[in-house]
Amino acid sequence: MRYLLLSDVHSNLEALDACLQVAEGKYETAVCLGDIVGYGPNPNEVIEKIRHVCRAVIRGNHDKASCGIDDAHDFNPNARIAAEFTRQLLSPDHLEYLRHLPSGPAIFDGFMVVHGSPRDEDEYIVSSVEALPFLRSPEAQVVCFGHTHLQGGFMFSAAGRLQSVQFLRPQDAIPRAVSLENGARYLLNPGSVGQPRDYDWRAAFAILDTDHSQIEFYRTAYDVAQTQAKMEQAGLPPPLYHRLSVGR
Ligand code: ZN
Repeated sequence: MRYLLLSDVHSNLEALDACLQVAEGKYETAVCLGDIVGYGPNPNEVIEKIRHVCRAVIRGNHDKASCGIDDAHDFNPNARIAAEFTRQLLSPDHLEYLRHLPSGPAIFDGFMVVHGSPRDEDEYIVSSVEALPFLRSPEAQVVCFGHTHLQGGFMFSAAGRLQSVQFLRPQDAIPRAVSLENGARYLLNPGSVGQPRDYDWRAAFAILDTDHSQIEFYRTAYDVAQTQAKMEQAGLPPPLYHRLSVGR
């Protein structure tokens, strides 16, 4: 089965549309790893599309904060403003939808999906030191995660070697396919659709092919100026839209 992995869309409709266009015909089942909303200008439109496209969706911290499950106390001021903006804009139906989203982990055929980490949906796995405990005692050979907005991940080989799965660099061919070795364990992040933070502004996603044991990392350009113009118009804090064109 070929699974489209979408994470951290963050109400960015232009980025989501660009990813879906590139992914069209290349996958059978779409899965969302959380943070559908927050930061961006189009929460209702993005929820509508994710609901339509994805067979499974788990919630992220911004989904929780935007529907009032969480009080966003650990958010920075700009993220809190965006969560409040999102809550005001959401239709009653979409607020309900977010409130009923399941938390991860979710299990598929041979892989697990989480927002932050297998033990805590709000935990960041940025470094190999943070990844190691989850690779040493895995609940699945492959764990797909989001939350950090960094495409790539970590592997623990059958011989016991810890390695990072390199981020896709702007000059790399797209997609970059990584074969999953037998006996190795993986933590893999498809990257963020709507607010990448790995210094590449292009929208990120991945396709996991469980029949052929490989993951394909994608990046795609989108109309970032249009997203930024909408955010400016909506009165969202400037740092939130300036960051989109630098990918951080
Ligand atoms: Zn996020």
